[in-house]
Amino acid sequence: MSYDPYIVGLTGGIGSGKSTIAQRFRELGIEVVDADQASRKVVEPGMPALNIIADRFGAKMIKSDGTLNRAAMRQLIFSQPLEKTWLENLLHPLIAEWIVDQLQRAESAYVMLESPLLLETEQHQLVNTLLLVDLPESLQLSRTAERDGDPKQQIQSIIDSQMARDDKLRRANYVFDNSLALDTVTPRITVLHETFLHLALESLHDD
Ligand code: ADP
Repeated sequence: MSYDPYIVGLTGGIGSGKSTIAQRFRELGIEVVDADQASRKVVEPGMPALNIIADRFGAKMIKSDGTLNRAAMRQLIFSQPLEKTWLENLLHPLIAEWIVDQLQRAESAYVMLESPLLLETEQHQLVNTLLLVDLPESLQLSRTAERDGDPKQQIQSIIDSQMARDDKLRRANYVFDNSLALDTVTPRITVLHETFLHLALESLHDD
């Protein structure tokens, strides 16, 4: 018998703590589908999208090992917004297809979709409820800088390109305050986990 899994969306800006939080849910037995992994998968060598990209932009977009030249691609779409739209139109449906397939395969009590751009893309339409990892921008900036070693200006421009914190807060069903210390994370995740288990169970009765 197959049934639709109950899907919890997990989102938050760069360095907000999504991977950290997702890992805690995995430790509780919850399967997590990672949208970043999806966006890498669909342009792997042998996937049709890679050939379509090469046809449009030339062989310079493919590295000698056959993988996508991400740096060249980033540079191109940064300077040419129309090409960015073209690329999004190509990749978003493929990413969504991969995500839906993974979500359907999940066997845990509910399944989590982790995505930095859940609210910015149509991915939010896939989820039953939305958990936002939230923290003040200054902390987001300093934690990301510490993790990646990138210049703060570069991180700030990524933050600025993502949906504003207030807008995300307005659209979330649950908010995880990740400004608090790491040792407070696990007990608070356990409480959320219980809530999601209840919601998943209720959704079974609704069917
Ligand atoms: P994201 O996946 O959203 O980009 P990460 O989970 O990688 O974010 O977290 C960003 C950085 O902040 C990592 O180095 C992580 O170890 C650290 N971090 C996450 N949560 C906390 C916390 N509550 N307290 C201190 N550091 C944290």
